[in-house]
Amino acid sequence: MKLKRKKVNMLKHKPVKQHEYFKVDGNLTRANKNCPRCSDTFLAQHKQTDGKIRFYCGKCHLSSWE
Ligand SMILES: [Zn+2]
Repeated sequence: MKLKRKKVNMLKHKPVKQHEYFKVDGNLTRANKNCPRCSDTFLAQHKQTDGKIRFYCGKCHLSSWE
């Protein structure tokens, strides 16, 4: 007799949705902030427990708060 395994969502990271990073209105504009050090990478936004938003660059590990 085989045991049935429950299907668990094993995705650790969500896939990147590139259409959310750009706004198209005639021209392409970047929706998120750019990294001031790398200049070509986006900054990720993380909510802190105190309500502040932390911006983080995954390339050069720069973090900044608003
Ligand atoms: Zn950077």
